[in-house]
Amino acid sequence: MVLPLARRAFLAGRRRLPRPAASPRAPAAAARLSSGAEGEAAAAGGPGAMLRHLTRKLRASGPVTVAEYMREALTNPGQGYYTRRGGVGESGDFITSPEISQVFGELIGVWYISEWMAMGKPSTLQLVELGPGRGTLTEDILRVFKQLSSVLSKCDISVHLVEVSPKLSEIQAVLLTGGKVQPSPEDESAYMKGISKTGIPIFWYRDIQDVPPGYSFYLAHEFFDALPIHKFQRTEKGWREVLVDIDPQVPDQLRFVLSPSRTPATQNFIQPEETRDHVEVCPEAGVIVQRLASRIEKDGGAALVADYGHDGTKTDTFRGFRNHQLHDVLSAPGTADLTADVDFSYLRKMAQGKTATLGPIKQREFLKNMGIDLRLQVLLQNSGDTATREQLLHSYDMLMNPEKMGDCFNFFALLPHHRLVHPDKKDKPESKSPLPPVAGFNELLLK
Ligand code: SAH
Repeated sequence: MVLPLARRAFLAGRRRLPRPAASPRAPAAAARLSSGAEGEAAAAGGPGAMLRHLTRKLRASGPVTVAEYMREALTNPGQGYYTRRGGVGESGDFITSPEISQVFGELIGVWYISEWMAMGKPSTLQLVELGPGRGTLTEDILRVFKQLSSVLSKCDISVHLVEVSPKLSEIQAVLLTGGKVQPSPEDESAYMKGISKTGIPIFWYRDIQDVPPGYSFYLAHEFFDALPIHKFQRTEKGWREVLVDIDPQVPDQLRFVLSPSRTPATQNFIQPEETRDHVEVCPEAGVIVQRLASRIEKDGGAALVADYGHDGTKTDTFRGFRNHQLHDVLSAPGTADLTADVDFSYLRKMAQGKTATLGPIKQREFLKNMGIDLRLQVLLQNSGDTATREQLLHSYDMLMNPEKMGDCFNFFALLPHHRLVHPDKKDKPESKSPLPPVAGFNELLLK
């Protein structure tokens, strides 16, 4: 068992106030909408700048892939959804687990400390978060690191945030540093840096490749689902790619069309043995997982990915969210969050054996294994008023209920092979003591 004392001390610790909850963008709640303009376009207040930009582009050079459409709508430097609006949180378009309850980030913080100890307590540790949203998850993790500072005292910790949105990086800077940040000189790979309220250096980057090498713990919570997907449809003539075009019947409206012939993507991404009729592939997620796996193989560490998704079984999951409601993906682009389920089987394949992989395991199982029930009991015992207790129970239900976020969100990890199997185990199976189990993916008993 890993970290019994530190974990127990943490789980029994005092609390901050729980957070309010709105609706998550979990797929359980999602039904696919048609691509018409009804309702939602009107709510969008008419076609905006992003729609004008896209229709000009489509008129000039023809239909674009769904991936290209998604990239423009979400991260176009001028008008993209994340660039301008940000969207995460109760006042935004969707709510995420760290925004629902501090316990979520705390248990992830405990997971990292547990792995750091199991890997022999390296003297430096980079916490690298991809797509940190409002920065809440990192803040909760850093609070755990501070509470367990006696355990981490000899470790030199730094935080590295990979964020494309200037608006969200500002929000992160205020939350994590109190706004005390400075832009980095051009010749540095980070675009901004500061010191966390708990005294840890924080750096911001646009790309994972800019993060310096070193022993690192990577975190991607609801990040991969925001990356652009390609969509494919099986037809009588073979596989065709789904594209986005202007609807010739209705001005300023977009529609899906099928490519008239195979595209480079149909050739590269559809496996000959594929049995589904509709497939979504996110090559950008594949490239990022390859990079994470290479970095972990070379410098050590681990990656924890948490998202809604499937193991290569689902078909049509592309959907939009605005003001906590499902939103037509082709309507008013740039004003709504666009997302698709993560294909964990694809991520596993893209690790290419450079690291071991664990999961996907359901969120409710992961959090249970991490001790969420004990943590809830302690928080309930320590809370004086009924409203706080109700809020605690409500947020626990949001995270754990199989009908809410408990079943559709999953945890998946990349770990060095030697973390799971002794390098020389095959030769001398009896010579080594057993490796500690990986927290969260195994039930850990608190002794
Ligand atoms: N992890 C947060 C936020 C999830 S929303 C949470 O769970 O609350 C997705 C996040 O990824 C946002 O911060 C968004 O700006 C960021 N993002 C989206 N595409 C990105 C890309 N290509 N590179 C880096 N960050 C990206």
